[in-house]
Amino acid sequence: MIGLVFLGCGGRRPVELDALPADAERTGHELEAIEATDEYHAAMVEAERILEDDALHEYLQARVDEILVARGLAPDSIRVFVVKNPYMNASMLANGVIHLHTGILARIENEGQLATLLGHEIGHQALRHIAREELSRQREESRVTWTRVAIAVVLAPTGLSPFAFIDLESKGMEGVLARQMSGYSRAFETEADRYGFEAMQSAGYPVDESVAFFQRLIDVEEATRAELNVGDAGEDPYIYASHPALTERKASYEKLIGEARSACAAAAEHCRDLGTEGGSDSSREARYMARIEAAVLDAARADRAIGRRQAAITILERLLAFESDSADAWELLGSIRSARGSRSEEIPEAIEALERAADLAPDRAAVRRELGFLYRKTNRPAEAASSFRAYLEAEPEARDATIIRRFIDEATRPDAEKSNGEGR
Ligand SMILES: [Zn+2]
Repeated sequence: MIGLVFLGCGGRRPVELDALPADAERTGHELEAIEATDEYHAAMVEAERILEDDALHEYLQARVDEILVARGLAPDSIRVFVVKNPYMNASMLANGVIHLHTGILARIENEGQLATLLGHEIGHQALRHIAREELSRQREESRVTWTRVAIAVVLAPTGLSPFAFIDLESKGMEGVLARQMSGYSRAFETEADRYGFEAMQSAGYPVDESVAFFQRLIDVEEATRAELNVGDAGEDPYIYASHPALTERKASYEKLIGEARSACAAAAEHCRDLGTEGGSDSSREARYMARIEAAVLDAARADRAIGRRQAAITILERLLAFESDSADAWELLGSIRSARGSRSEEIPEAIEALERAADLAPDRAAVRRELGFLYRKTNRPAEAASSFRAYLEAEPEARDATIIRRFIDEATRPDAEKSNGEGR
């Protein structure tokens, strides 16, 4: 897991597998964990917490397969799914399923950063961390707790406390939660980092993007904390507790890059593979951004719902810089900017975004309606009348048709320009 992981110095080089083990070779603990995570994943599917977008799903599975093949593992031996959740998280489940949360997909900038994340998660599975983890403490944690914790975390953005499902009377329960969400031991996280680093290198990604990935998470975390004005004791136990961990993870990848460069220099090889000349991952940035639209929209809607308005605007604007013909993104951006309580200087930007949405999707009633109100508010009666008419045309049976018609009459009166709205 990427959330809260604390990272130390590298340990011994682990033994790598040529193939992921068959069930017969697995320990009882592994089999139990597999069963629990199968149940958990099924519960997530049933609760419609898995994002359904075939193109995105295929694209992500292809990136996973690329890394698996680069490490000599069978493609499809690990499967990837997208979880509808605005927090920056990802996990490798014992059953060979990777959960990538929309919040982290929406904030990753390119395929090199995605490969950093996937390589690390695949590393946990390939290095068999479930089987090797210290069992004494973990065994005491019941399967039920594991599942409840995991589901609670995903329910958090729905407004329910992540702790709502946890019996806090049991001492140390928060510790259990923190441990589950923070992933494996420090030594295993280091192993997974090294595995992931080598995987992204073999798959041909510029390794500098591994450091850029952690810097990106740090920047987003700081921006979110500033927006919610929560200081160091934030409400979100996953993101806000993670800052020192992210800094350490970044340092760990810097060290891996340093080692790789020294090895390359010692062998007097050309270091092209290390990304020293390639700079940023720009062509793969465009390809990445073209595929993640559904994830960005999901994360932005959820961010708005939990009061992270600026966070939502930031990811939508980044998407639109690449995918300027997304009517959904323009509509959502316009609607967030025009929302009640937002600063009035944002109204022109809201209008601009909604006008883009209306151009791209002329029949969208909600866009026309919202534009009508914004024009009315800014004393543009002719445009208000025309937007309201387009709204009623797209939705003749609208429940507010009577009042909208009154607004049209009002906007088309000869003195409408003076008497209407509150001025610009
Ligand atoms: Zn991890």
